[in-house]
Amino acid sequence: MVQTDKMRMTKQRRLILEELRRQNDHPTADVLYDRVRKHLPRISLGTIYRNLEILTALGEIQTLELSGSQKRYDGIPGKHYHIRCLHCGRLDDAPIAPLSQLEDELYESTVYTIMGHRLEFMGLCPECSKDEEARHIAEAAIAASQHSTAN
Ligand SMILES: [Zn+2]
Ligand SMILES: [Zn+2]
Repeated sequence: MVQTDKMRMTKQRRLILEELRRQNDHPTADVLYDRVRKHLPRISLGTIYRNLEILTALGEIQTLELSGSQKRYDGIPGKHYHIRCLHCGRLDDAPIAPLSQLEDELYESTVYTIMGHRLEFMGLCPECSKDEEARHIAEAAIAASQHSTAN
């Protein structure tokens, strides 16, 4: 069977996928690059990016586009939600099931054909929760974003 380069799971690609799934803290490409380089010292950042794009296209991983920050990569391909720390940017999976009934409810009341939805929770991670200044900065950021949404 002839496989295109895009479909073939190269050694590099498999290793990138393994690293991403081993520690699913939703790293940026830079962080992942550092981890993969421990195993493949000669790999380039460009190769990491290219393989992350292909893995996303293959449905093996997800590329997370978060407002105002670098892209993050997720080793879990299925639908799930995230919690983001407003202070340090730590990103964890939210331990709740996808709210598919939301889309059903909307189906009844909109002229749009609903294709999906995104939902992200915001808060402070345990470390930043202890930091008084981090709390104030986060509270101000939330207040500002709610203000601009209301307008
Ligand atoms: Zn934090
Ligand atoms: Zn995730």
